[in-house]
Amino acid sequence: MFLNLESEELAFIETVKKFVAEEVLPNTRAWEEATAFPDDIWTKMGAIGLLGMTLPKEKGGIGCSTMAYVEACRELAKGDPALSMNVAAVNALCVAHFDHFATPEQCEKYLPGILKGEIKLAWGLTEPDAGSDARRVRTKAEPTDEAGKYKINGRKMFITNGGKADLIVLIARTSETELSAFLMETNQPGFKLEKRIHTVGVSASNTVQFALNDAIGWHTPCTFEQAIGLLYRGRLGIAGMAVGIAEKAYELMLEYSKGREQFNRRLCDMQSVQNMIADSAMEVEAARLLLHKGATYMDRGFHVVLESSFAKLYASETANRVTNRAIQVHGGRGMTREFLVEKLWRDAKLTEIGEGCSEIQRLVIAKQVLK
Ligand SMILES: Cc1cc2nc3c(=O)[nH]c(=O)nc-3n(C[C@H](O)[C@H](O)[C@H](O)COP(=O)(O)OP(=O)(O)OC[C@H]3O[C@@H](n4cnc5c(N)ncnc54)[C@H](O)[C@@H]3O)c2cc1C
Repeated sequence: MFLNLESEELAFIETVKKFVAEEVLPNTRAWEEATAFPDDIWTKMGAIGLLGMTLPKEKGGIGCSTMAYVEACRELAKGDPALSMNVAAVNALCVAHFDHFATPEQCEKYLPGILKGEIKLAWGLTEPDAGSDARRVRTKAEPTDEAGKYKINGRKMFITNGGKADLIVLIARTSETELSAFLMETNQPGFKLEKRIHTVGVSASNTVQFALNDAIGWHTPCTFEQAIGLLYRGRLGIAGMAVGIAEKAYELMLEYSKGREQFNRRLCDMQSVQNMIADSAMEVEAARLLLHKGATYMDRGFHVVLESSFAKLYASETANRVTNRAIQVHGGRGMTREFLVEKLWRDAKLTEIGEGCSEIQRLVIAKQVLK
């Protein structure tokens, strides 16, 4: 209903679907086992435009709409949710940060390599004592004698792709009351990887904790609110990821229920199973509509605070419910690694936590509807 893509964007989504079918889905288990993506996945994604989706063409991106961006996240999640999460964050939080806040000199130095997948990115906000309460960030940035360069000290945790990143867009405190964002190269003495964080799902995404001891960051002039404002598109990307997970689980649930018989009947002919299928069909549809509404509103220039939280909250809870039902319909086999549904169920959990947990989304919604 809301899906309204230009012909160039439709062609882009077809390319993404082909990429998912050929390069992503066949490797998703291996990447999970390796707890890493191969490095060349970034250059392959760069080649088809996945690393600069909403970046304007004149800056080297493909200049697509938010709708095309969420559709790409949705398609990627059907192949590998962890990859979808990485791509969502790289585009909405990192590349968009360059687009809005980086200086021409910073763009010139890094963007070409980023868009080709040669410079790998991460976005660093969360700290051991600053999660949902992002304003608690303690990592401290102090100016050096060199213009724009700051000395940064602190610790970040749960940073997606942090173990592989060459460059991190990092949030740090510049005074008692102010926070801002910095570009930090990881190949420097002050940057120390402390540990790899192993998570129950999205394991290929190389989540880490790192410490900064007089690490040098390059200031991108923006306020905390401006940097964090990018999360509205980010949340739509995570909602796209959640819808993709739910769609894939629903598809696998349908297929399995048609192929297995018990009591001389196919599972799909049993009313209890049909209830699970019906509820999933409806919830997937509703989640997709909220996603498309949020993307449409953003493309029309509205401030999508409410819509992005609606989409993320509903889609992430749908992904968790539908993957759970998909396992139920698969019975014991659903709990084994021979079937993809258990992986989708584990991967789905992240969508209720990352980029603002469900409780925070409810707070945002309540604040909007009560004002
Ligand atoms: C796999 C993974 C990847 C991630 N990637 C990144 C990344 O790339 N960059 C980055 O900066 N961060 C990243 N994060 C961090 C993520 O954004 C945080 O985990 C999330 O914001 C929640 O913060 P927290 O884990 O500290 O939980 P806390 O803030 O400690 O919250 C714990 C729980 O308390 C409840 N809660 C908290 N606040 C409230 C409230 N106000 N009202 C009601 N209930 C509340 C919620 O149930 C919440 O789940 C990632 C996390 C994971 C798991």
